[in-house]
Amino acid sequence: MTKETAQHVIVIGASMGGLLAARSLADYYQQVTVIERDIFPLPGENRSGVPQGRHAHGLLLKGREAIEQFFPGITQELENQGAIPAHLQEARFFINGGYLHDTDNDLTGLLVSRPLLEAQVRQRLLALPNVRAIENCHVLGLVTTKDNTCVTGVKFIQRHSSSEEEILNADLVVDATGRGSKSPTWLTNLGYQKPEEEQIGVDISYTTRLYRRQPEHLQGDTAIIVSGAAPNWRVGVLIAQEAENGVSSQESRWIVSIGGYMGDRAPLEEAGFLEFAKSLPTQDIYNTIKNAQPLSGLIPYKFPSSLRRHYEKLRKFPAGYLVFGDAICSFNPIYAQGMTVAALEAIALQNCLNQGTDNLAKRFFIAASKVVDCPWSTAVISDLRVPQVQGKRSLMVRLMNWYTSKLQTAAQQDLVLAIAFLSVTNLMAAPSSLMGLGIIFRVLLRNLWQQSKLPAIGKQLSVTS
Ligand SMILES: Cc1cc2nc3c(=O)[nH]c(=O)nc-3n(C[C@H](O)[C@H](O)[C@H](O)COP(=O)(O)OP(=O)(O)OC[C@H]3O[C@@H](n4cnc5c(N)ncnc54)[C@H](O)[C@@H]3O)c2cc1C
Repeated sequence: MTKETAQHVIVIGASMGGLLAARSLADYYQQVTVIERDIFPLPGENRSGVPQGRHAHGLLLKGREAIEQFFPGITQELENQGAIPAHLQEARFFINGGYLHDTDNDLTGLLVSRPLLEAQVRQRLLALPNVRAIENCHVLGLVTTKDNTCVTGVKFIQRHSSSEEEILNADLVVDATGRGSKSPTWLTNLGYQKPEEEQIGVDISYTTRLYRRQPEHLQGDTAIIVSGAAPNWRVGVLIAQEAENGVSSQESRWIVSIGGYMGDRAPLEEAGFLEFAKSLPTQDIYNTIKNAQPLSGLIPYKFPSSLRRHYEKLRKFPAGYLVFGDAICSFNPIYAQGMTVAALEAIALQNCLNQGTDNLAKRFFIAASKVVDCPWSTAVISDLRVPQVQGKRSLMVRLMNWYTSKLQTAAQQDLVLAIAFLSVTNLMAAPSSLMGLGIIFRVLLRNLWQQSKLPAIGKQLSVTS
């Protein structure tokens, strides 16, 4: 398809999903209009439509790569504003009771606050000549042909004003309004079926605080990621990010988010928060923040369930309409997958548009479901390790979790396994890459070796004590 054949596309929602969808569409449509409920804040500042922006946001390696592909030079632009290059060897991953082996490869990510990342992506997007944004407008619903077979635009209203409802027409409308998307309801109202939904209740809570980062903290390392394991399922991250607005770019901050499953929540007062940090599977986050200077209050967030909507299974869907990003799938945030999946969906959308617009929704939803499949199943299988999380633990799920725990234990001693594991969690490699014979062999050998060493160490300890 060329720009001449398709005219106007509306993207509803200007968060990471909407911005990346708009960027991919800008190569194919003459005019892209992004409609956002919020007024855009100053770069680096939070806004109410993205409450999760106040909490730690890790950008996976694959996500940084995809965003850089859409906006060449953006990594450097963000670094110029204080974002910190994330060399894997400067990050510490505490998983399954121990730290992963130090890595020595040159995979580099980016540590940046969510508001700054979004602001820079938005600035680059809106610099494209065929993209514009309408802020402060609430989309109320869809406009369709009389027979409801085709979406032809949206109805919206200016917020905080007494103005009338307006209509904007388009050849394509994309819903990127996040997890709370009204698409299932809008579709039902038009006489279509709702997509089938899958939910895994995790009841994750985050409590977040910002601190001043000092050069001596963590010997200069830039992140600690702590995953829970039986019997302590508490989780936490401490991630370096750019300093707040108005502070020298030589300074930086820590963002600390800690929490747990099934309502296990870090208290919203200083002493209780620090006590919770101390109770994580490792005390390294606690040791870093206990004397650090707080830069914010304690900010809570509750995430009830991972939620996937299977639009690809619908047999009928109106033409001229797509759903995108978290509106398709909202992942347990501890795996930091949402923005990267949105970027990969944007690439999938371009691949679909390369084949034209015929049957676009069906083709896109199938492509998006392939993007979502791996991160979804990795997250769900991992969540099912937590005994209180409800869900079917098939033999395959139990086998996968048994193998993954052996792999993680082995990766604490083995550089190759640590890199293989991090490549999968960063969506740089498929989970199947951990099932190659060479990897399985290393996992088994390391575990056998470690087990054979344990009694010997035990004996030594009892002799010396
Ligand atoms: C606590 C938490 C932590 C997270 N951490 C990470 C992380 O570490 N790494 C990562 O990659 N992802 C993370 N995520 C996920 C990530 O935030 C999302 O995947 C990402 O923002 C993409 O979502 P989205 O743009 O599809 O939807 P959203 O971010 O929810 O944005 C929806 C947008 O639509 C607008 N909108 C809604 N309704 C309307 C309407 N009717 N009219 C106009 N505008 C409307 C909203 O104002 C908003 O701007 C986290 C999520 C949570 C909840």
